[in-house]
Amino acid sequence: MVHAALEGEEVVEYKESMWCKLRGCINLKVSLLEKTEDMITLLIQDVNPGFMNSLRRIILSETPVMAIHEVVILENQSPLFDETIAHRLSLVPLRTNLDRYTMPEKCECEGVGCNLCQVGFTLEVEAPENGYVATTGDLKPQDPDIVPVSDDIPIAKLAKGQRIVVEAFAKLGIGRVHAKWQPVSSVAYKMVPHVKVDPAKCDGCEECVKVCFKQVFEMESGKAVVAREMDCTLCNLCTKECVGQAISIDYDNTSFIFVLESTGALPPVTIFEKGLDVFKERLEQLIAQFPGQRTRSKRKSRK
Ligand SMILES: [Zn+2]
Repeated sequence: MVHAALEGEEVVEYKESMWCKLRGCINLKVSLLEKTEDMITLLIQDVNPGFMNSLRRIILSETPVMAIHEVVILENQSPLFDETIAHRLSLVPLRTNLDRYTMPEKCECEGVGCNLCQVGFTLEVEAPENGYVATTGDLKPQDPDIVPVSDDIPIAKLAKGQRIVVEAFAKLGIGRVHAKWQPVSSVAYKMVPHVKVDPAKCDGCEECVKVCFKQVFEMESGKAVVAREMDCTLCNLCTKECVGQAISIDYDNTSFIFVLESTGALPPVTIFEKGLDVFKERLEQLIAQFPGQRTRSKRKSRK
């Protein structure tokens, strides 16, 4: 349902029965503000900061991606220690296919390693006369779909005649276990800002335009006007500089701008959807642990 919204429709409601059970009723409205190959910016409405932070942390630490987990060093004449090469390989982001591979602990092989839960790589390079930098482009994968997101990440610099021969194995994992399995380079949210300028109080001093590093304000007919409200970071520098106190800044703590940047392992929309799926799973587990109990649907808001 969310996917449909991100592909075309402007606004869609994401209703989830588990959330309804747990918290009275939560309707998550998602609108797409911006989308690139590796990044999405969403407007998420009708939720609270607790929900947003849970979603952010689940995306960061519970959404699985592929990463190299085992490295067999067969030959290493480079100046780097074996452990350093293994560490560098493990941090290479790999394109991931969540439909084809399963988590090792859920696999039929019980984590031993098979074609359903593991992908092998080989790296064999020897530096020519004028040296060579072994990069991720030299990694040869068993599965042509599971490849490094870039071919240009350096692994080791080799002098003339030096060789590296390595076998490596990647598997699915989650960021809670190791940061190499985090699917995002950043995931963050902020409350939707409301910036207003009272034209009657504005003396046209331009201080707010000069001080705002996000360029929220512009001058129009000698008065400051709000040009890019969504870019406001709520830093309040403008209100401090405004002598006539013409600017007021507030925020809506039920609407959030959510920015997710993928490492390239998965498309950002897939990461967001998978995060919601994992969220639902966690709530189901919580409900199963406390059958028959009801949570308070309303709390006193503290501000
Ligand atoms: Zn397996």
